[in-house]
Amino acid sequence: MIIVLKRDNKSVLEDVRRRLMSGGFQFSVLEGVKYTVIPVVGDLSASDINRFRSVPGVEKVLRISSPYYLVTKEYKTKSVVDVGDGVSIGNQFQLIAGPCSVESEESLDRIAAFLAGKGVRLLRAGAYKMRSSPYSFQGLGEEGLRIIREVSQRHGMRSVSEIIDLRSLDSFLEHIDIIQVGARNMYNYALLREVGRSGKPVLLKRAPSARIEDFLLAAEYLMLEGNEQIILCERGSLTFDEAVRSAINMAAIPILKDISHLPVIIDPSHGVGIARYIPAVSEASVLLGADGVMLEVHFDPSNALSDGFQSVNFDQFSHIHERIGKILSCLGCTRC
Ligand code: PEP
Ligand code: MN
Repeated sequence: MIIVLKRDNKSVLEDVRRRLMSGGFQFSVLEGVKYTVIPVVGDLSASDINRFRSVPGVEKVLRISSPYYLVTKEYKTKSVVDVGDGVSIGNQFQLIAGPCSVESEESLDRIAAFLAGKGVRLLRAGAYKMRSSPYSFQGLGEEGLRIIREVSQRHGMRSVSEIIDLRSLDSFLEHIDIIQVGARNMYNYALLREVGRSGKPVLLKRAPSARIEDFLLAAEYLMLEGNEQIILCERGSLTFDEAVRSAINMAAIPILKDISHLPVIIDPSHGVGIARYIPAVSEASVLLGADGVMLEVHFDPSNALSDGFQSVNFDQFSHIHERIGKILSCLGCTRC
């Protein structure tokens, strides 16, 4: 960090010097024309930095190093999330697809059968839904998790579903292969810690108001509990632009992959919110280096119980699947 003081303020300089020495930090003092600049090296935590920010007379404290470590490439060069049964994310492009919500065993089975027929190995479906309105369909709950497990096993798929409450963690551990922590819960650190402790693969979504730094810090919470099986998912941020549901940041793919060893996927369904633009965004993500795309798919989007407007139908999915396959083979990568 760098501490900046007004040059003529000798008593503040003495105070800062005393605090730095008693904390065992290495530093030097550079006197400029108007300011005194103190570069400090050593193992500085966020609270050290905030403590110096609150010393009376200190003008500014600039942080140089990032506040996270375990998620970075300094800690590990690459992570591949092993979901079991030969399915992994991080070493081959993956399509994760399924309805927004599990609506019934029959409808999930119809969707899973279609997707498995295309070679998709990861089935997504929400059993507990965090709807903005308490009057909207809230999901089938525990029964939904059981349906997801039966249907995914029947079709040789692995499952992804969102946890919204710690009380259902045991059921998720029993029925689900990848626990999704949704956008609204990215800041729920108690939930992150417990899910982290469980050791299950986690699909962590970026909150609509989170900066990349906040997103990586949420992943750091999971890693700190010893869980390295994390998939980062960009799903768009809040925006004033009414043409889309969220502003998906496609640059987040190369940025996150540059900073972190964790696999990065995109969710264009929530990130764009309009089915007809989803193919283009999905295809672009391959070129940007994403490890996968998560898509909401329904055989009859206009009658889906949630997020029908952004769900692609079977024809649209087939088109995306075929185009992504072609792009991957042009790039010489593994097919999805
Ligand atoms: C979902 O994937 O169904 C979902 C609710 O996503 P998000 O948390 O990104 O809104
Ligand atoms: Mn949804």
